[in-house]
Amino acid sequence: MNPRFQAVNIDCNFDYTYDQQRFGPIGVDLLLKKATTEDEIIAACADADAVLLEGTKTPMTARVISALRRCRVIAKSAVGVDNVDLAAATAHGIVVANAADYCTEEVSDHAVALLMASARRVMSMDRFVRTGQWAGFTRANPLRRVSQLTLGLVGLGRISRATARKMAGFQMRMVASDPYVTGSTSEAGVEIVPLERLLKEADLISVHVPLNAETRGMIGESAFRQMKPTAIVVNTSRGPVIDQDALVRALREKWIGGAALDVVAEEPLPLTSPLRDFDQVILTPHTGADSEDSMQHVRRTVVDSVSAVRQGYWPPFPVNAKVTPRFPLKPWTEFRH
Ligand code: NAD
Repeated sequence: MNPRFQAVNIDCNFDYTYDQQRFGPIGVDLLLKKATTEDEIIAACADADAVLLEGTKTPMTARVISALRRCRVIAKSAVGVDNVDLAAATAHGIVVANAADYCTEEVSDHAVALLMASARRVMSMDRFVRTGQWAGFTRANPLRRVSQLTLGLVGLGRISRATARKMAGFQMRMVASDPYVTGSTSEAGVEIVPLERLLKEADLISVHVPLNAETRGMIGESAFRQMKPTAIVVNTSRGPVIDQDALVRALREKWIGGAALDVVAEEPLPLTSPLRDFDQVILTPHTGADSEDSMQHVRRTVVDSVSAVRQGYWPPFPVNAKVTPRFPLKPWTEFRH
């Protein structure tokens, strides 16, 4: 093992006492920086053996990655790694690790909350009462019995499956579309269908795919036009998976019934965004993952990732698992800490 190993956190926002306590004994020097541009990251990470990042926008582009001469691992405190050029990292032998399971419970709870708040029109009823009104709401805006509705899950990975497990209690019909999941590996009670069928049949649609070239804008005008006029779209994945201009048109022209969004194309949501004006839209500020518990979990996973690579092991959740690392790594399952 080299005498020293430098880990640079370029997005530091929190308290890193836990990281320091675990890194100290294994000879990892943690540097806390705030680097937001490509040039700042390149300057901050010139001698980094590990780069830690947290932000969804931090530009880990091919240019930045090719300048990381010593780096062995990029560890992200998140699930989505859409701001990291994975192909460039793989080409340079850098392992990219995420924290795949740190917020599965929180985001699926959030998706369920948004689905049920939409189905029961909780937010608009709350506003209705606050303006001094009471009776008449449901007659003007009919509600449906949730158990009579179909839930459509776009993507059937960790968060989607946890959402299905929780929504099963509402006894809805559940369908999912995921080209990488076969019937035999699907969640119990969830029927795998093509996306087109899901869009036509679902009353509540919950989006759970990673953002990549294939999924960017996948819920666009054509998708909205195939949905029921009462359909509600919930997005807790990444904003750009939905074509936001098309969503605004779909809401304005009543192609669909409503939306609930934890993530939007531009974050924070601009004050001028028309999404703020729709009564049938629920907005939360990308807090789906948040809880005291998930914050502790994510630090444990990121520190595990860096510690493992520092000691010659794979991290627990390599995203580019086919990479040939700059230094050979032993299996994560053999790592003891
Ligand atoms: P996951 O990798 O376990 O699941 C993603 C699923 O999407 C996989 O099953 C994959 O096969 C599927 N998929 C990929 N391309 C698809 C396509 N074109 N059509 C349909 N399915 C497709 O990830 P996860 O843990 O379930 O997280 C999903 C996403 O949620 C993450 O990528 C991240 O962007 C987002 N997320 C958001 C928050 C938040 O705070 N709101 C927190 C964590 C994760």
